[in-house]
Amino acid sequence: MTHPSRLALAAFVAALTITPCALGHAQQPAPPATASAPAAQAPDKPLPGLDPSSMDIGADPCKDFYQYACGNFATNHPIPPDQPDVDAFYVLYNVNTAELNGILQKAEAAGASRSPDEQKIGDYFKACMDTGAIDAAGLKPIQAYLNRIAALKNTPASRASLAALIGDLQRDGVGVFFGYGEQQDFKDASKQIAFIQQGGLGLPEKDYYLRAGDKDIEIRHQYTAHVAKMLVLAGESATQAQQDADAILALETSLAKASLGVVDMREPEKTYHLVPTSTVESSLPHFNLTAYEDGIHSPHVTEINNVTPDFLPELARQLQTADIATIQAYLKYHLLTSVARNLPHQFDDENFAFYGTLLEGQPQQRPRWKRCSTAVDGALGEALGKLYVQQYFAGDSKEKMLQMVHDIEGAMGRDIDQIDWMSAPTKTRAHEKLAAVANKIGYPDKWRDYTKLTIKPGDALGNQLRADAFENDRELNKIGKPVDRGEWEMSPPTVNAYYDPSMNDINFPAGILQPPFNDPTQDIAVNYGHIGAVIGHELTHGFDDEGRKFDAKGNLDNWWTPDDLKNFTARTDCLVKEYSGFTAVDDVKVNGQLTLGENTADNGGLLLAFMAYMQRAKETGQDPSAKIGNFTGPQRFYIGFAQNWCENTRPQAIRSQVLSDPHSPDHIRVDGVVVNQPGFAAAFGCKAGTPMVPANSCRVW
Ligand SMILES: [Zn+2]
Repeated sequence: MTHPSRLALAAFVAALTITPCALGHAQQPAPPATASAPAAQAPDKPLPGLDPSSMDIGADPCKDFYQYACGNFATNHPIPPDQPDVDAFYVLYNVNTAELNGILQKAEAAGASRSPDEQKIGDYFKACMDTGAIDAAGLKPIQAYLNRIAALKNTPASRASLAALIGDLQRDGVGVFFGYGEQQDFKDASKQIAFIQQGGLGLPEKDYYLRAGDKDIEIRHQYTAHVAKMLVLAGESATQAQQDADAILALETSLAKASLGVVDMREPEKTYHLVPTSTVESSLPHFNLTAYEDGIHSPHVTEINNVTPDFLPELARQLQTADIATIQAYLKYHLLTSVARNLPHQFDDENFAFYGTLLEGQPQQRPRWKRCSTAVDGALGEALGKLYVQQYFAGDSKEKMLQMVHDIEGAMGRDIDQIDWMSAPTKTRAHEKLAAVANKIGYPDKWRDYTKLTIKPGDALGNQLRADAFENDRELNKIGKPVDRGEWEMSPPTVNAYYDPSMNDINFPAGILQPPFNDPTQDIAVNYGHIGAVIGHELTHGFDDEGRKFDAKGNLDNWWTPDDLKNFTARTDCLVKEYSGFTAVDDVKVNGQLTLGENTADNGGLLLAFMAYMQRAKETGQDPSAKIGNFTGPQRFYIGFAQNWCENTRPQAIRSQVLSDPHSPDHIRVDGVVVNQPGFAAAFGCKAGTPMVPANSCRVW
């Protein structure tokens, strides 16, 4: 689907919407007033696969394994002021960003000898870095849009023109009012179709508008204050801007009330309603869908997945009856916030003050060079990624990783054979699905062609809009065409991974196949614990509460007998209960239902990785009881796994994650998982009944 505007990090992707986990909510962080100031902190070095300095050796691994494996991590890794947190993912992300920056510095300087891709990434980066030119340009690069918004009137003809304007804005990456894009048909994965769905909110998700706690009221107050400041910067009087901001909050609250919550959005049955286009049109009277399609460059479709049908009537009501001044202010604010990175620094600073500091607790913006390197990865990920993998993922990296993937798939096959709660017919279907999983490692076989994307020197904002439009066009151009199974949803340098249920594939970008996750200086125990658990996690997504609904071909199709499904649900209910008992921060508990898919994947993934490790050790004649650095093989395996999740996180960032993200907080992903692992107690000699070996453990896979 389109608009993956969030920066991927710190977690793995589950499913339907291929939504990577967020580092900064909705917005990318913005630049500091003094862009030329040198970075305050020393550059990150890669963490080792097994890091004794992060451990608290004095702690009892049977009481609190996170404390044992990660107890000194926070002390040794204070959170840099330009980050919401620090963990293994973030450290590697910083390492990769510095490497991308090295490539970009060469590309911006190389002159006439550059390849077309180097010209594009180099000029995009250089323009992004030129804050002097960005400040001098003011609002000029978006003046045409501001004029169109200002020209709207409270007449039927003017309201009718909104369809084309919304289409144009969305094509350029400005997410107003609703979402529209391309997906594989859930029931026929060989088909690519259009979808329309809820959207248009400035806060991270629906419940931010509706919860009644003091903290929630405060955030809404801060949000309207922020919106007003942005409008003042764009020329409104303070009184007018505050009035507009309050009206924008009211409009967005109406859209939020008509939206599905984050738990429901994970359920494919609730988000699949393939209907003739005329059905959507009748829910959106007075909205010219054809003009909209022309604006966003979509083909004129005859059927659409109406993802959230209850949303459209409210959308129609707002478009038709909201005060036209409110609609103007709403469009203007969302335009400003979407492109704040490339507007004069006052906009960028204000945008960061809300989305970075207030929502995530991050005191400072990331330095401009990091933000611009990340921006090029977002805009031209496969052009930059091609150069990245040549330098950092060469040789036999792909083949080595593929062997581990095959080991873990082999373990899953044995696991399916061994489990006692599933009948033979369902096991046959599970095996079919497992055998059909496609393994994608490192980078695409065929690189994306950016020939038609124009990147101009000195036009930072124009480059951003054209790159967004190019990506939207690429997505929408797939509608009605055959599926390209070689396509990737993440760029090669990304520190993340995902399972896609419609593709039935697991995807591991080169960016995560680096230390500490994959460390060539460590033995197999450590690496199977680190990246092996990640691979097992993604594979298990194909068989979690959501993935299990899709078959070998990627179609939504129930392949479970009623009894097997009942047994499965009893097991996942155990995980819901376990994780709902964890306190994430202050009064905020983990949402066991929202995080069920990820928790299932964490638990199954670690179990499979352990089976695969023991098998590989056996086949290669390695003795697991042999110690390296005082630890046996199984001990190194579990410590390596736990150190995937050592963290130091600001409380604001944990709060914001727990409320909207399907992943449990990092530290809970250690103890929450090892309590359910049959191999753990033996590895550390823990007695039954100790906190890490409870009587009532859970086991799905
Ligand atoms: Zn995941």
